[in-house]
Formats: sequence, structure tokens, C-alpha cells
Amino acid sequence: MVDYVNIFMARLMAKNPGETEFHQAVQEVVESLSLVLDRHPEYRSAKILERMVEPERVIIFRVPWMDDQGEIQVNRGFRIEMNSAIGPYKGGLRLHPSVNLGILKFLAFEQVFKNSLTTLPMGGGKGGSDFDPKGKSNNEVMRFCQSFMTELCRHIGPDTDVPAGDIGVGGREIGYMYGQYKRLRNEFTGVLTGKGLNWGGSLIRPEATGYGCVYFCAEMLTTRNQTMEGKTCLVSGSGNVSQYTIEKILQLGGKVVTVSDSDGYIYDEEGIDAKKLAFIMDLKNVKRGRIKVYAEKYPKAVYSPVDRSKDYNPLWDHRADCAFPSATQNEITAKDARNLLKNGVYVVGEGANMPTHPEGVRLFLDAKILYAPGKAANAGGVAVSGLEMSQNSMRLPWTRDEVDNRLNLIMKSIHKTCVECAERFGTPGNYVNGANIGGFLKVADAMMDQGLV
Ligand code: NAP
Repeated sequence: MVDYVNIFMARLMAKNPGETEFHQAVQEVVESLSLVLDRHPEYRSAKILERMVEPERVIIFRVPWMDDQGEIQVNRGFRIEMNSAIGPYKGGLRLHPSVNLGILKFLAFEQVFKNSLTTLPMGGGKGGSDFDPKGKSNNEVMRFCQSFMTELCRHIGPDTDVPAGDIGVGGREIGYMYGQYKRLRNEFTGVLTGKGLNWGGSLIRPEATGYGCVYFCAEMLTTRNQTMEGKTCLVSGSGNVSQYTIEKILQLGGKVVTVSDSDGYIYDEEGIDAKKLAFIMDLKNVKRGRIKVYAEKYPKAVYSPVDRSKDYNPLWDHRADCAFPSATQNEITAKDARNLLKNGVYVVGEGANMPTHPEGVRLFLDAKILYAPGKAANAGGVAVSGLEMSQNSMRLPWTRDEVDNRLNLIMKSIHKTCVECAERFGTPGNYVNGANIGGFLKVADAMMDQGLV
């Protein structure tokens, strides 16, 4: 089997040169799945895995727009339609200068497994652009979003492909994109999720990824007869996922001592309480300011700017019980992982997608801590997006409690699937194998049923 994994990866890398994040995401999954392919040669002979790493469709397009100075700008737009075996393509749009084909393919690939785990009928996709919304005026963001949707609208639809938000895409951007879609197609449908509440959005969608991640970790803790009560937590990022991760940790009696953005991080030994969280939400969602302002408002907190000469992130070097990486991919290196373990962290819930380097993942698994990989831990966001699609189809909104209860049940069910699959394939307690195998089986069986397409 080691040979199979090596040959598979060598072919994938030769065929997709330079797409390092995509290679990384596939490598992890193939290693887990070698356990399944050993027992089920039928998946191997049907070349299920070879088909799953090849997107069903990749769309790349020009996005021209005009800035406030009247100058023409050109960005690149993408949509990766990865797999539709169990439902319409579903996955977020990312607006960040680092966006490229390899990053979006890694995200789309992970999304296939994640969506399968949610129990809802959703295929996997991902998209976005190298446009940087930071420092742009509202009008510039609107003109970009309108131009982006002018092309994207030909490829998506409520039964085909339903994008949502991701880094750099929140309620404002979804609003501008939805307005343009409606104008061009003359239809009011559930073509995007993360919509505003008074035009088709779902209660709890903004909260879902962060809440879901904490629900998942609470569920892992129950396997050791523990709860979130009194746990000290490190959180990175200060965007959508981080904000609601913090909110849920506080509701469950935990304490949060860090928060960050791409310029630096805050260490607040006293803890970020509900009032300070409200300040962060206003700073980030309304004023669109930088996190260092937090330390000006609360002078007992310490702000440390990013220091590129360091080979580790000091945010992960504080005494704590739990860590919630919620910013971006590969934000926990092997050294960071060692620091976390040294500082007593034994619960890691990945709000972000693939935030831990492969060597860090191995350290967590070897240490037998409660380590929840992103495709399980952060599936709550897309799960509630799936619930938003159901509400749009029925044209009936559900209450906050109803959506929150469903989210909680879905996270429990994902946890159960991970635990059972890890055990069934001989690696109890390994949530990485559990999530990869659990996500794979449903999609693989659907692909077997549907023939060679
Ligand atoms: P967001 O609202 O745009 O916030 C992203 C946060 O991470 C910001 O604080 C940002 O700081 C920081 N960040 C982004 N890129 C960074 C980098 N290269 N280095 C350091 N910090 C960086 O995005 P989000 O929706 O919270 O997404 C965060 C993560 O969760 C991503 O990995 C995303 O794929 C994942 N995720 C999101 C959802 C969802 O529903 N939104 C669902 C599942 C998974 P700056 O403001 O300085 O850039």
C-alpha cells in the first residue's frame, strides 16, 4: 500500500505541478484511504480516487473592474466544480491576494469530504479571486463583485452550484453578488448562501462554522468525561470563524486569551469577555480596522506584531488547554505544534481549512490528543448553508433555535461517523482517518452507483 500511495502521489504531482497545497491535501487523504482500498479493491479498480482528484470542471475567467480613481483593474476569477456525485457543487468563494488554482483545488477537494460528512446532499466546489478587499472602498468592492458575478452566473444555479462566503467574502460581498445574479438572470433563488436575513438568509449561518467547531470539540471532550467549562483557549484570526468560535467558547464557560489578524496577535491574560468580543466584532465587521487597536482600548492586553524572522508563531506559545486555529492554511508549523503540546494543549479544533502542517498533524496524532481536522470540525458552516438551501426551496424560514439544534445534531453525527470509521479501520481515536474515510465512503458509493461519468 505504501507503493500505491507513492505512485499515486508521484502521478498527481507530475500532472498538477506547483500546486503544493493541493498535493498536501490529497496526500493526507490518500494515506487514510489506503486502509479502505486494502479492504475494498472494487474502489481501486473503479479508479474512484483517481477520478476524485480530477475536478469535474474548472472555470477560470477575467474580472475587469474600475477603481475609484478611474483606473482599470484586472483580476482572475475561479470556480472549481470538484464533485457532484451526492448533490450540487457547494463551497465558498475566497477573495485574497494569495488565491491561485492550487489553493482553490485543495479547498474544493477537502470540501467534497466535508460536505459528505454533514449528512446533507451537497457536492463539493470552491472559487474566488486574487482580488484583495482590504483597503478598498465599498463602491470598489461592489464593482468587483458585480464583474465577478457577470461571468460566474453562467455556471451556477440553485440545482447546479451554490457558492457561499470564505476568507474576504462576508455578508457585504454576498449581497453585491446576489444583487447582480438576480439582475442578470431575473430570478430570486437560493443560488448563494450566507444571504441577508430579510432576503433569503438563514438564522445562525454567520455563527455556524465557529459554533459548530466548538460543538465538535465539546463532543470530543465528552469521550473523556469533560466539558468546555473552565478551559483556556487560544484562538487565531479575528474574522467570521474566530468571532463565533469565541462566542460559543464563552457561552460554554471557557476562557479565550488570544486573537489575531495577518499583522499580529493579541494576548489578553484576563480573557476576552462578551463586551470585548463585541468590540472586536465592531472593529472587524463595521470599522474594518486592525486588531492592534484592541490593545489601545484594553491596555492590559499585549499586542505583538508579526515577526517574520521567527520560525514559529508566538500565539501558539502560551499555556492553554485548547487551540482553535481559525485564520488560514498552514498556520501551525511543526514547531508550533510542539509548543502547543509543551504548553498543555490537548484539544485542537480546526476552524480554518488545513491550518496544520503535515508534520504538526503527525505530532498531534502521536501525542493522542483530541485533534479535530478541519473537514470535520468546521463543517458546521456548510451544514447550515445546506439548511439555508432547504429553507429557500421550501420558502419557509426556521427559527434560531431550530437551526441551532440541527447544527448541534449534525456536529454530533459527524463526530460519531469519525469515531466509528476510525475504529472500524483499526485506528481508534484518529479523527483524521475517521473524517477522511467517513467522507469518502458515501461519495465513492454514489460514484460506483452512477457509472463511469
Ligand atoms: P475572514 O472572515 O475573512 O477572516 C479571516 C481571518 O484570518 C482574518 O482575521 C484574517 O486577517 C486572517 N488571515 C487570513 N489570511 C491570513 C494569512 N495569510 N495570515 C494570517 N492571517 C490571515 O475568513 P473566515 O470566513 O473567518 O475564514 C477563516 C478560515 O476558516 C479559512 O481557512 C476558511 O477557509 C475557513 N472556513 C470558513 C468557513 C466560513 O463559513 N466562513 C467555513 C469553513 C471553513 P486579515 O484581516 O489581516 O487578513
